Amino acid sequence: DRPIVQGVIETPTTQDISLMNYNNPHDKVQVDNNNVGTFGTLEKMISSNPYFAAGGGLMVLGASFALLKNGVASFANLMYRRMVVDLEIRNSDKSYEWFLNWMSNYKHRVSRQLSVKTTFVQHQNGSVATGFTFVPGPGNHWFKYKKAWFFVKRERSERIHNSGQPMETVTLKTLYKDRYLLASILDEARQMAMKLNEGKTVLYKSWGQDWRIFGKPRKKRVIDSVILDKNIKESILDDIKEFLKSGSWYHNRGIPYRRGYLLYGPPGSGKTSFIQALAGEFDYNIAIMNVGEPNLTDDRLAYLMNNIPEHTILLLEDIDAAFNNRTQSTEKGYVSGVTFSGLLNALDGVASAEEVITFMTTNHPEKLDPALLRPGRIDMKVLINNASDYQVRQMFMRFYDDAEKAEEFMKAFKELELPYVSTAQLQGLFVQFKENPNLAIDNIDILKSPHMNN
Ligand code: ADP
Repeated sequence: DRPIVQGVIETPTTQDISLMNYNNPHDKVQVDNNNVGTFGTLEKMISSNPYFAAGGGLMVLGASFALLKNGVASFANLMYRRMVVDLEIRNSDKSYEWFLNWMSNYKHRVSRQLSVKTTFVQHQNGSVATGFTFVPGPGNHWFKYKKAWFFVKRERSERIHNSGQPMETVTLKTLYKDRYLLASILDEARQMAMKLNEGKTVLYKSWGQDWRIFGKPRKKRVIDSVILDKNIKESILDDIKEFLKSGSWYHNRGIPYRRGYLLYGPPGSGKTSFIQALAGEFDYNIAIMNVGEPNLTDDRLAYLMNNIPEHTILLLEDIDAAFNNRTQSTEKGYVSGVTFSGLLNALDGVASAEEVITFMTTNHPEKLDPALLRPGRIDMKVLINNASDYQVRQMFMRFYDDAEKAEEFMKAFKELELPYVSTAQLQGLFVQFKENPNLAIDNIDILKSPHMNN
């Protein structure tokens, strides 16, 4: 076929056309042929007319220049796209904070727009520590990393995340040949973040639609610092160990890989402290949610429970609060609080490739509906009670490590004939007289005052 087509274009003659079959797809060649003819006449018209000749020349020149300009621009664009790599990191992604933190610690950078990040932590004793870091602010920045240059642009958009935070992005640009360094930067940033959290427990709290890190990561709480009644710690520790080993058992049977624990008992008995210590023991973080929070809706609860940060224990505090709002929509149609059925649905719906450990706490187990206590929702219920004699002695020993004085203290304690005393109350007394066990014994009456209860 091809020779005929080429021949026709190169030497257009009527004879060639007449040779062609009209059913032949090469019909279009005839059209081309005509065009060549039209152009031919047009050219003659232009060259024979001086007016057209002058204007036409200019026109052609202008058109070619425009074409060239466009060509250069698109070539530059093409080369740019070939040569430059963009990496966009959004603030909805974990690596966003990691990267900003990495960059604020990186020496070889040029940043004129800085933002101050103030961190403050309130310690358990109420003291507050503040610190500042300078992170790259919205705007343009440069840095040199392993002989390659990186351009960084941080932008803040007017749009708002569901969490209430403005949407932000950081875009990193570098040459195509250096693109492999992007992964290495992100890896360094991640490792730096991990190191900051080494030996620490990160606390997350629900914030709007998302989980947000709450305060600075805390030092892991050692399990020995929590004094529970005999065998309680061991039984829960063993159960979690067994659960963590049984991943394939759950997966093979198609059972959601999760386990729920309920710790119930009076306030100040160490429920929260024990969960913190467990998180430390298994190197987990904690995501805390208060189901009684008025802004929490069933939808948000379900979303949050399905998006728990990795390697994190879910802690639902004061779970009985969910039982106060059995219906969600009021007459006016607005929503307040989580409903009981919403809570059950969220618990049942938790689906994750990873294991999910849920702890719930309550001071009012009698308020709980039996539906919550079904296996799968709560698999183990444990009473964490006021201090037993065993715990009183253990607490004393932990503070003063003096067996003789412990006997003395126990004698005085029994004489008080208190109906109950919480471990938090005992801690209060021992902290007050931390230097001297004799003073703790002399002032044991303090345990009678109810205000010390938590
Ligand atoms: P709960 O969650 O049961 O209300 P917390 O864990 O919040 O109690 O304890 C309140 C305070 O009392 C914490 O400072 C904690 O260290 C101390 N505390 C309470 N119970 C214990 C315990 N069993 N062992 C060690 N410390 C305890």
